[in-house]
Amino acid sequence: MTVALRTGRCSRWSSVAILLLLTAGTVLSGSKPAQPPDVPGVVRHGPRGTKEIALTFDACSLRSRGKIDTGVVRVLLETRTPATIFLGGKWAADVGPALRSLVSDSLIEFGNHAYMHPHLENLSTDSVRIELRKAERAIARVIGRKPVLFRAPYGEVDERVAAAAESLGLTVIEYDLPSGDPDPRLSPASIVKYVVSSARGGSIIVMHINTRGRHTAEILPEIIDGLQNRGYRFVTVSRLISGVSTPPPPASPSRGTRKTGRRSTRAR
Ligand SMILES: [Zn+2]
Repeated sequence: MTVALRTGRCSRWSSVAILLLLTAGTVLSGSKPAQPPDVPGVVRHGPRGTKEIALTFDACSLRSRGKIDTGVVRVLLETRTPATIFLGGKWAADVGPALRSLVSDSLIEFGNHAYMHPHLENLSTDSVRIELRKAERAIARVIGRKPVLFRAPYGEVDERVAAAAESLGLTVIEYDLPSGDPDPRLSPASIVKYVVSSARGGSIIVMHINTRGRHTAEILPEIIDGLQNRGYRFVTVSRLISGVSTPPPPASPSRGTRKTGRRSTRAR
């Protein structure tokens, strides 16, 4: 974008055209976030006939010590936005006490995101079960209960992995709207535009809360406002797939101009 503006040889309209092409290319070309495949029994979205949407965050375990994006935590709590967070077992063990404000708030629910974030399709069925059980124990130590939802690392889940998770009493949750927040090729503005314009009733959006997202806390207020301005309401994944629709909140003249705007919630 800056190249087009700095040349000085482009007319105003050609500059605008280049800007639009670059923006569209960033979102729609090879850097478009990948969708997980459809697998029987795996939930990728809720009912389409509602105005409800689930915001989800992955906390993927890394070999290095896990970090929590405190900016995302602050935005969720300040805006009172329900969300579902899928915890890596090792990440939960690393971060532990930093999750306290979320664990004590009924706004937030937690799911299982495996222990060490492996490629589960490459593991034996027994190893998949061991991995998920190990995560379950680590997560339960932090949140005080066993999660009942599971999201596969990298969105990689086939029928065998799904069956192994289901045999442990877990409902497998993937997504239909990956934000692409870890992708360095995507600008903050392009992520906001893509998520807000692509969401549909029942969408499950995935972002990151382990600092893997490069601008997640910065763009989250705009995504929340943008989707609320389109008439959507946020619910947890459990609520989204429960078949029980929540009534819309009373109209508020302050919607879209809350104190939790971009400036007050900038995290980094
Ligand atoms: Zn992950």
